[in-house]
Amino acid sequence: MVSVAVIGSGPSGALFSLLAAKLGFDVLVVERKAKPSSHIVCGEFLLTPNETRRLYVDSGIIRDSRDVDESYKYIVGRNIVENKISLIEIYLEGGRPLLDIKLDGYVIRKDLMIQQIVDDAERNGVKLVNSAFFTDAKYRDGVIIFKAKRGGVELSFKVDYLIGADSTPSRVSQVFSIDSGYDDKDIALCINQRFSSLKIDESKVYVFISPRYAPGGFGWIIPKGGGRANVGLGVRMYLVKKGFKIVECFKKFLSDVESSFLKGARPTELFYLKTVPVGGIVSNVESGCVMLIGDAAGTCEPINGAGIVNAMISGCIASNCLKSIVEGRGLSYSLELHRVLGKVIENGLLYRKTGDLLMYNRKLIRLGALFLGRKVLAKVLKAENTPHLILARILSMFT
Ligand SMILES: Cc1cc2nc3c(=O)[nH]c(=O)nc-3n(C[C@H](O)[C@H](O)[C@H](O)COP(=O)(O)OP(=O)(O)OC[C@H]3O[C@@H](n4cnc5c(N)ncnc54)[C@H](O)[C@@H]3O)c2cc1C
Repeated sequence: MVSVAVIGSGPSGALFSLLAAKLGFDVLVVERKAKPSSHIVCGEFLLTPNETRRLYVDSGIIRDSRDVDESYKYIVGRNIVENKISLIEIYLEGGRPLLDIKLDGYVIRKDLMIQQIVDDAERNGVKLVNSAFFTDAKYRDGVIIFKAKRGGVELSFKVDYLIGADSTPSRVSQVFSIDSGYDDKDIALCINQRFSSLKIDESKVYVFISPRYAPGGFGWIIPKGGGRANVGLGVRMYLVKKGFKIVECFKKFLSDVESSFLKGARPTELFYLKTVPVGGIVSNVESGCVMLIGDAAGTCEPINGAGIVNAMISGCIASNCLKSIVEGRGLSYSLELHRVLGKVIENGLLYRKTGDLLMYNRKLIRLGALFLGRKVLAKVLKAENTPHLILARILSMFT
């Protein structure tokens, strides 16, 4: 039996492990958390399957619906949808909304989704090693020997294939010197905190653009229903390295939106930080017997940070490609990932890079919005095709 180890049990790693086990692989998952579903740092918002189909599949931006449908099987009908969204309101530092985007989405219980997939995986024979941090690996006699630390103890494993589903920056990529092609503009540092007792219209997601507290990123309030919400913001890593303090930004953001959106609301947990890739699919998603999936492969949508469904889609693609590789049919994972998700992620990257020219100045943001008009701007933020893609391609060369 061909053995495969998966490092990380987020949406990409959990789904990959389940599908690979179903395809007949001997699967081991190494996860640094005590429980894969604990400590979720995420807005938990995603598009409904119909919206995904309408926006991306029917228009050919996502070029194959099989992996999309497979991913949504683990979202729809599993009691994980907590709230339904029909509109995104975008503000430029409070005031009146700059833009409304009509769009059908769900806010999910990501912890429960991951737990359900992991439980299914274990029922299908996947072995899970929790509280274990992947540290190192090397090839020996054609197999991969890798190490993980659990408490003070070093564990060692031998496998035929290794999957990096360990987000960004990926330790698996570092150990195997797989170049992402990223710089610090291609990573966002995000902060998220859960609040309760909000009194807002829960059918909307609220997005706040602000060079003051979210330069190169945005703030969000994502209602989870029952007065609860994920509240957070993202800032580009190069600014953080220059001394921009994300916690201070978050405090500014909270005080800015307090009177209109968070009156009487209170945090129900500490805030948590996590990085998100916004540089598009990394330069190399495979090397030898190693494949990268999800955020480790840069599948997060660069213009809006949506990464859950894309991560799961990449897990589906990788499991099928691995099966074809061991059967000698040799489907290239890199080509397949680019074929299915390449266009939607590239669109988002081109728009993000163009946005980088404007996002740090309030007046330029307004000018950009005026130039594009509401309809096109809405398409840009969803990474859809627009006539401005060519201009975005040219402008992106200057960022
Ligand atoms: C604040 C925030 C808000 C977001 N909001 C949204 C949203 O609303 N909608 C959306 O679609 N996307 C959102 N995203 C993006 C989304 O969370 C990710 O794209 C998605 O979770 C990627 O899944 P993944 O499995 O690739 O990685 P992750 O979910 O990051 O999972 C990686 C796993 O690997 C484990 N790991 C890491 N390193 C090691 C190691 N060395 N050894 C062992 N285990 C390791 C981690 O513990 C983790 O469980 C958000 C991200 C952040 C940070």
